[in-house]
Amino acid sequence: MKTAILGGGLSGLTLARLLAARNEEVIVLEAGARPGGLCQSVEKDGFTFDTGGSHIIFSRDQEVLSFMHDVLACNRNVCTRNTKIFYKGLFIKYPFENGLSALPKEDLFFCINEFVKALVAAEKGEFESPANFKDWIYQTFGKGIADCYMVPYNEKIWNYKTDMMSAHWMEGRVPRPPVEDVIRSAIGIETEGYTHQSVFSYPLEGGIEFLLKAIGEPVKERIIADFRVTALRREGERWIIGDGNRTILADRVISTIPLQYLIPTLINVPREVKQAVDDLKYNSLISVSIGIKGDVPPISWMYIPDEKTGLENRISFPSNFSSLAAPEGCGSILAEITYNEGDAISTMSDQDVIDHVICSLSGMGLVSQGSVISTGLFRHKFAYVVYDLHYLKNIAIVREYCEKSGIGLVGRFSRFEYLNMDGCIRNAIDFIRGIE
Ligand SMILES: Cc1cc2nc3c(=O)[nH]c(=O)nc-3n(C[C@H](O)[C@H](O)[C@H](O)COP(=O)(O)OP(=O)(O)OC[C@H]3O[C@@H](n4cnc5c(N)ncnc54)[C@H](O)[C@@H]3O)c2cc1C
Repeated sequence: MKTAILGGGLSGLTLARLLAARNEEVIVLEAGARPGGLCQSVEKDGFTFDTGGSHIIFSRDQEVLSFMHDVLACNRNVCTRNTKIFYKGLFIKYPFENGLSALPKEDLFFCINEFVKALVAAEKGEFESPANFKDWIYQTFGKGIADCYMVPYNEKIWNYKTDMMSAHWMEGRVPRPPVEDVIRSAIGIETEGYTHQSVFSYPLEGGIEFLLKAIGEPVKERIIADFRVTALRREGERWIIGDGNRTILADRVISTIPLQYLIPTLINVPREVKQAVDDLKYNSLISVSIGIKGDVPPISWMYIPDEKTGLENRISFPSNFSSLAAPEGCGSILAEITYNEGDAISTMSDQDVIDHVICSLSGMGLVSQGSVISTGLFRHKFAYVVYDLHYLKNIAIVREYCEKSGIGLVGRFSRFEYLNMDGCIRNAIDFIRGIE
């Protein structure tokens, strides 16, 4: 049984590794010059940056966490999260509901009062099941935390109105914060939220791409780079896969490439399926890397909910993840901006985006005149799956079609799900177990 895996990002390489471990014949077809997808890193001017936004290693899933830690072996730095939200010029502890005491008094009252009101309404059973993501935010956090942080931040990162987004993906992902924690945080007693992420790992050397390379090591000879799959068809029991020049034959196909690329490779796709794929929403990403002479604050990463401060929704400080990510005496910052083809950000030149970010960081007091010694900019077309209100209907149509066609779907843009690295690895493990 020869398996062809379309796409050589984290999902593709994990699948290949797992299949090779079962002595199966496998080949990975990757469009890019090298594998990695969203998990690529670059070294520039002595700095190491992740091109697909800042990546940290964490998981609630112990099997997957051990898998990641094992492949990293000694090349693993363990960090304690110190994350902030930039709000009205203040550095508020993250999650927002755990940093309330630092808010201006009026905002603190607004957040607590509305949180209690939402809690009482929930206890009395006054809420109907949330019709959209905005409803879910209001019901879970109350209008105060919603209006100050959750709604503006989410609308910035998703580049989409929260009342036009589905709430289905929140179930199990973000619980209502315990009332005791919210009260503690409001009166200034330290509390931690999202504790599964409060300690995380990062490769000492090589950025997040090291994780990819380590996973792909046993199958590195099985990767064909610069192979953009453009045609996929079945002839009898075999699949014929082409990139316009070359043809590969396989008995099994597992796709980890975006559905928007997979479906056009197939012939005779029903109109309804094509339409469903066209209607799936996603965001693109610009990552801007900044290397500075001097220190950065001891912050892991920081969310920037408002538009006035800058276009970036999050900045991280990779030099705090590993001392080897920046030259001695230097610090690094990575800014993430979401955009969509055709919007105002997409028309900005690279230099304009970089200048904008430096100006915004300087406004936050994070860089000073003349301290910037390195800059870079990276784009990823497929970065975030956006769960709009029609998502569940559309994805069901596409998945059913792929299943009937015998194409396995694994990974973030192939499942078209908001999967982090751990979710992709879990997806790959389960898929391989399913074909045992
Ligand atoms: C800003 C940001 C921050 C993140 N931070 C974290 C984090 O801190 N922790 C975490 O766990 N996760 C994080 N993630 C999620 C993580 O990046 C993804 O879960 C993971 O990288 C997805 O891997 P994948 O292989 O499924 O997809 P991709 O990385 O998208 O890989 C798909 C591959 O398919 C290739 N391809 C596309 N079309 C074709 C074609 N026609 N033929 C052949 N190949 C093709 C692409 O070149 C690519 O290499 C983050 C994501 C983003 C956007």
